Amino acid sequence: MATDMEVTTVPQPRREQLTGWGRTAPSVAEVLRPRTRQEVAEAVAGAGARGVVARGLGRSYGDPAQNGGGRVLDLTSMDRILDVDLENGRAVVEPGVSLQQLMQAMLPFGYFVPVTPGTRYVTVGGAIACDIHGKSHHADGSFAQHVVSMDLLLADGSVRTLTPEAEPELFWATAGGMGLTGVVLQATLQMMPVETSRILVQTRRVANLDEAMEQMTATDADYRFSVASLDNLATGPALGRGWVESGNFATRDQLPPKLRATPLAFNPKPLATMPNVFPSGLLNKRTVRIMNEANFRRAPKAAHAHLATIGGFFHPLDAIHDWNRVYGAAGFLQYQFVVPFAATATLRRVVERVAVQGAPSFVTVLKRFGPASPGHLSFPTGGWTLTYDFPTGTPGLTGLLNWMDAQVLEAGGRLYLAKDSRMSAQDLAAMYPRLEAFRKVRAEVDPHGVFVSDQSRRLAL
Ligand SMILES: Cc1cc2nc3c(=O)[nH]c(=O)nc-3n(C[C@H](O)[C@H](O)[C@H](O)COP(=O)(O)OP(=O)(O)OC[C@H]3O[C@@H](n4cnc5c(N)ncnc54)[C@H](O)[C@@H]3O)c2cc1C
Repeated sequence: MATDMEVTTVPQPRREQLTGWGRTAPSVAEVLRPRTRQEVAEAVAGAGARGVVARGLGRSYGDPAQNGGGRVLDLTSMDRILDVDLENGRAVVEPGVSLQQLMQAMLPFGYFVPVTPGTRYVTVGGAIACDIHGKSHHADGSFAQHVVSMDLLLADGSVRTLTPEAEPELFWATAGGMGLTGVVLQATLQMMPVETSRILVQTRRVANLDEAMEQMTATDADYRFSVASLDNLATGPALGRGWVESGNFATRDQLPPKLRATPLAFNPKPLATMPNVFPSGLLNKRTVRIMNEANFRRAPKAAHAHLATIGGFFHPLDAIHDWNRVYGAAGFLQYQFVVPFAATATLRRVVERVAVQGAPSFVTVLKRFGPASPGHLSFPTGGWTLTYDFPTGTPGLTGLLNWMDAQVLEAGGRLYLAKDSRMSAQDLAAMYPRLEAFRKVRAEVDPHGVFVSDQSRRLAL
């Protein structure tokens, strides 16, 4: 029988200041941590005029998982794996299950997550809402393409089970829909079968951007995973120099004998936690130049094959907890765009202007995307995608990014909402041709705009 004592254990709302991973644009919201579907439904029903939005592990960089003056539902307490079907490689999970949890639970049975971004610390709810991509987009597409079905709580309190076949409009408005169609309560995922937990990687230095693009274009069909890291400050003939890493999961036979006894081992350990003591400006043109140079020199001149762990290959930054603190209190911006393959001149212009202006980016990553998913606001679409991490205090950054926006737009490209904290509503409308289709679905399922975020207000989504 429930006692008064037990009733008081229901999580109470707390006013908290929230940011995205870039630690810019904080806002204060009433945060609730529901543990059951019923508690989610009550929290949505009780949202006031400023509405409500779901939040996972807060790994999107800007403001999509914030709702200043309104409610935010932190779903990380709903983190149970509800069922697994080992024969068909499927997992039924609550929305707060992280990709790390899924790897720990499913790798012993020979299954990896269908798509992984550059961090394991994202939830399934966040992965669906941003329709995330990984190094395998050219081979595997985006996350939502591996969602067999999901349960979505709508603004009126009803729950709909969505599949791409039975409810394509709402399914594909929710995939990439940034939490604005409702709250994902549960998902069934198709996992990826693997023989081992190691990746056989070829790493090769590239002298410039052209060589990076040539290398990836020539070899992507042979590799499930591929990515180029660039020294973003190199100029002249070395513009866009860096290294390309291409890999496939190793088969059991490819493991050395000492690893064959535990082919599916997975026990990543964070090496350290970044203390919260760094001044803004530690990563600047001078320090990033030194680190870029060292990383470039470390990359092998000729193709070099090695076995990598999941953590080492997919999630190197996860080795240091709270690494975003190195940017200091002012934080940093991640800028990710995609332009069609035909727009290599735009890509080169952007790389050149950033390098000549000397805007430092410690992480600069180039990938080739395969075809788009049907997600109305899904980001990936066939072309080159480039990602920069810029400290917010970089001189001339606003002008540079505005210029980059115009270049991307003119080339028929787009920016990624999961990384965005500054795009304009006008640019968004021009970059996402299916925005109206998204708005139509949203108007049907949430006519009073219950689901809102700082980002949706800024972008008039
Ligand atoms: C180091 C690093 C590397 C990254 N690399 C990549 C990459 O390679 N590729 C890529 O695509 N992304 C990448 N990202 C971004 C990250 O994958 C996405 O932002 C992801 O959505 C974060 O998940 P989260 O659980 O932290 O969601 P949050 O950031 O908390 O929320 C993101 C969005 O999801 C919505 N949401 C969360 N849960 C639910 C739910 N249950 N129902 C409905 N909506 C919900 C929120 O409202 C919000 O709009 C990277 C991020 C970091 C920090």
